[in-house]
Amino acid sequence: MNPAHIPVPILIVDDLPENLLSLEAVLRRDGLEFIKARSGTEALEILLRQEVALALLDVQMPEMDGFELAETMRGSERTRRIPIIFLTAGVTDRARRFRGYEAGAVDFLEKPIEADILRSKVAVFSELYLQRRQLAVQRDNLKAFAEENLRLLKESRDNAQALKEADIRKDEFLATLAHELRNPLAPIRNGLQILRMAPEGPRAEEVRGMMDRQLTHMVRLIDDLLDVSRVSRGRIDLRKGRMRLQEAVHSALETSRPLIEDNRHKLILDIPAEPLWVEGDLTRLAQVVSNLLNNAAKYTPPGGEIRLTMREHDGHADIEVADNGLGIDPDMLPRVFDLFTQADRHLDRSQGGLGIGLALVSKLVEMHGGTSRAVSEGAGKGSTFTISLPLMDTEAESADEGLRKKQTREASPLKVLIVDDNVDSAQTSLWMLDLMGHRGMVAHEGIRALEMAREQTPDVVLLDIGMPGMDGYEVCRQLRQMPEMKNKTVIAQTGWGQESDRQKAFAAGFDHHITKPVSLDLLTQLLADIRLTAAKAGDPQHG
Ligand code: ADP
Repeated sequence: MNPAHIPVPILIVDDLPENLLSLEAVLRRDGLEFIKARSGTEALEILLRQEVALALLDVQMPEMDGFELAETMRGSERTRRIPIIFLTAGVTDRARRFRGYEAGAVDFLEKPIEADILRSKVAVFSELYLQRRQLAVQRDNLKAFAEENLRLLKESRDNAQALKEADIRKDEFLATLAHELRNPLAPIRNGLQILRMAPEGPRAEEVRGMMDRQLTHMVRLIDDLLDVSRVSRGRIDLRKGRMRLQEAVHSALETSRPLIEDNRHKLILDIPAEPLWVEGDLTRLAQVVSNLLNNAAKYTPPGGEIRLTMREHDGHADIEVADNGLGIDPDMLPRVFDLFTQADRHLDRSQGGLGIGLALVSKLVEMHGGTSRAVSEGAGKGSTFTISLPLMDTEAESADEGLRKKQTREASPLKVLIVDDNVDSAQTSLWMLDLMGHRGMVAHEGIRALEMAREQTPDVVLLDIGMPGMDGYEVCRQLRQMPEMKNKTVIAQTGWGQESDRQKAFAAGFDHHITKPVSLDLLTQLLADIRLTAAKAGDPQHG
């Protein structure tokens, strides 16, 4: 507030109304406000209610005279600093003046008042009052400024503390990471030495199996690490589509069952037969459920019980994984989904983990518009993890699905060239295509694939990347140079799912990039889309 705009309140006290009026008339000017009182008592009441810059007091008044009023004002903290000018009738003697100054007077003016003198004195005190107000405002501003600085200081101290904690967690994480990665290396190195000494025989087979398991474990750790780094940088692409949530659960069960069985846990499933449709990335959702199942298996002593329940409620599908294992401390519970959190570092960590799994779960679920939560009644009391995903509108879904099926039925089959050096893999792909009603053909190497493409002009080429001789990238580049293959669809089918691999595939001219093992659903959908696009583009071949 600008203090210059506040009117300066002047109190005038006189028992005669005509004196009050004439004083006001003499002093009236912009910026002044006059508060009039006809007795000491009335003046005191006013002073209780409102601030006053200057008091002009008549000395001779019945009941309380001006001096008494001034003394009372001196006695109260609220009013003792108000400057007082006494208005006296005739000359006041020295003793009375002295009493007046003692009571807080700053001046005496004798009646009849000289207007100019009174005006100039009032002007001086008004100015003083305004300056005091301004100082008060500045003082308030300073105080607010100091408080804000203090708050900022505290905030930055908190931030520094948080950074320090994050730094400690990072160091702990790096130590765990080194440890977890070194763990499988020791048996692998031992295995290598054993194989060098005794390369054949049943022991060698066992060693190879062990090395394979350790390697798989290591690859899983590294995959998790890459995933979490991509998720936290927002670099993960979900390949979402309509899917039955049951499929994700079944795929997760396939992944996690060996660990559950190794630990002799009893697995209880409660999954509705009626499909629950969600818009999701099958691989990622399977990863989410499998992470929860693996944790339940890891953090439950052997012979425990794991229960997976799936149910629909309020337009959502809930998947709940409950175990009767180690449970989670209440202090820890709010942080289990944070990155690098490990509730119990003293545990035998032979199952290995980096404190990434649950962070991935919650991020991936979030990217599907869902939520994750953990409940445990404490150490030793088991844990329950629940993820909740929005369901798709089933009506819209079935209409869409119907249309797709109709199109699939009516459309002519696609000619698909499968290129894979792995004979089994090529054969199974051929069977899958056959089931879908397409016409498949197989080449086991790049050169042959190019010949077949030239002879048969397939609509789609399902091309493996890692092949001896000419690799998939090169085959794709050469396919793109054939005029008849320029606009056909070429799909990379590989074990390499990293973003950089995808980019490399697109650069070589691939239209799609799918990771092995290829799911039947994904392939069906992809081929149906290709057929649809071709049909829309008016390709007579596809009617
Ligand atoms: P990791 O298992 O690699 O340590 P996660 O992010 O999957 O990392 O889990 C974080 C921590 O939460 C685990 O270290 C463990 O202490 C705790 N936790 C997770 N799941 C369970 C569970 N089912 N029962 C008890 N504790 C669990």
